[in-house]
Amino acid sequence: MTTVGHLINGDTITDAKRTQDVFNPATGEVSHQVALASAQTVERAIAAAEAAFPAWRDTPPMKRARVMFRFKELLEQNAETICRLVGEEHGKISHDAAGELQRGIENVEYACGIAELLKGEHSKNVGPNIDSWSEFQPLGVVAGITPFNFPVMVPLWMFPMAIASGNCFILKPSERDPSSTLYIAQLLHEAGLPKGVLNVVNGDKEAVDILLRDPRVQAVSFVGSTPVAEYIYSTATAHGKRCQALGGAKNHAIVMPDADIDNAVNQLLGAAFGSSGERCMALSVAVAVGDAAADALVEKMQVAMQSLKVGAHTDSKNDFGPVITRQHQQKVIGYINSAEEQGATVVVDGRESCVPGYEGGFFVGGTLIDRVTPEMVSYKEEIFGPVLQVVRVASMKDAMALIDNHEYGNGTCIFTRDGEAARYFSDNIKVGMVGINVPLPVPVAYHSFGGWKRSLFGDLHAYGPDAVRFYTRRKTVTQRWPSSGVREGVEFSMPTMK
Ligand code: NAD
Repeated sequence: MTTVGHLINGDTITDAKRTQDVFNPATGEVSHQVALASAQTVERAIAAAEAAFPAWRDTPPMKRARVMFRFKELLEQNAETICRLVGEEHGKISHDAAGELQRGIENVEYACGIAELLKGEHSKNVGPNIDSWSEFQPLGVVAGITPFNFPVMVPLWMFPMAIASGNCFILKPSERDPSSTLYIAQLLHEAGLPKGVLNVVNGDKEAVDILLRDPRVQAVSFVGSTPVAEYIYSTATAHGKRCQALGGAKNHAIVMPDADIDNAVNQLLGAAFGSSGERCMALSVAVAVGDAAADALVEKMQVAMQSLKVGAHTDSKNDFGPVITRQHQQKVIGYINSAEEQGATVVVDGRESCVPGYEGGFFVGGTLIDRVTPEMVSYKEEIFGPVLQVVRVASMKDAMALIDNHEYGNGTCIFTRDGEAARYFSDNIKVGMVGINVPLPVPVAYHSFGGWKRSLFGDLHAYGPDAVRFYTRRKTVTQRWPSSGVREGVEFSMPTMK
């Protein structure tokens, strides 16, 4: 059985002391192993990154951008392989993997403009013959730790911008689906990236803990579940590092009485069940305002869900695939059971889902649960599966209070025809990314991505303009040349402009 290794200083190596099984979630079988890096392996990667940094920092941004441009082309040329690797380990259907890749490529395209993005700020004559400017210098060695659900896109949120900004990067991908991530890192080397600028260490907590504590690592970007995000943020910052840690979610969609219900149903189908609900922006709760809207929504949803196709990634006619592991499948089913036990109505039940020919797969069928209340465990916690819950409320005010009171604040959406209601909602709701008749308001690559409350720890959001600030350090230079002829006497008070 093959073992997925690490990529350090341009070489693929396998640290085989500890390994973990990687599954094909459609069959439930182990397809290969992944090496789990030891402390020494991670330290080797940090040393490689540190050695590569001086030359990469001094490489003109335009040349760094050219590497990114070639990388973009290689990602496009090798899209089929990338999507196959995602499908084999994550279970994502090929059309969905292609969407993930495209959103990732858009971050590479944004990084191609790095020369423009790093231009800085300049002021002439801030004093007599004195000029001042701010420049944005790379931090040095920075690290990224990524989740299983977007093995290509989330790493591409991080390392293209970090590297284009002049940093050297260490990526610790999810150990559950490491192959596509390792493959795109190899493509970046094929695009001309010097050795040591990007290093990939596969592994678990042991590897992460070194990255969080080693003083050579200047900053850590994390995307994953909230308990781990909290740990990452507190540990990294306690060790003096800059950190952004994006966590879990519970995204609500308000369905107003005036909404176009057919449109809302179509949008909710994709947003709740696409990628088996394993998206941090999945809409997992529909908040219906008024019983008429709730009844119409549940009735139409029930009919529409009959045509949902669950199956293996190899058949592009499928809508979504299995969840990531047997353990996660059981966890999702446990949440459906608990909702039922606490008094909710399971309208469409995916617990017994069976895909012919894939009986061992980790499948959960699309599930619709009505009359969910805020006290229920299935409402409070992130399910991360193909489950849509309906909460019934009397007014928009109640719907907004529900969302504001939830501990997560990643994404939300309102379905309405009322512009005034939509504007009030986007102005006041305590959530970081808001959609108005747009179910998955994931910002494009030239904006930045991030939630509020316990969905993000840190000041800056991921990718886009915030990534330039996160991966660089401002330096302000104030300059005067004696040859300008200005000579001043001794001053003991602050220089001011009078
Ligand atoms: P996870 O938290 O289990 O793992 C994420 C990463 O952290 C992995 O690389 C893993 O190896 C590492 N890790 C896990 N436990 C650790 C520990 N105790 N110490 C140090 N490192 C540890 O998350 P996951 O199951 O891979 O991904 C799903 C979660 O990610 C969901 O909660 C989802 O909402 C969230 N997510 C959030 C966003 C966002 O942008 N906010 C995006 C994608 C996924």
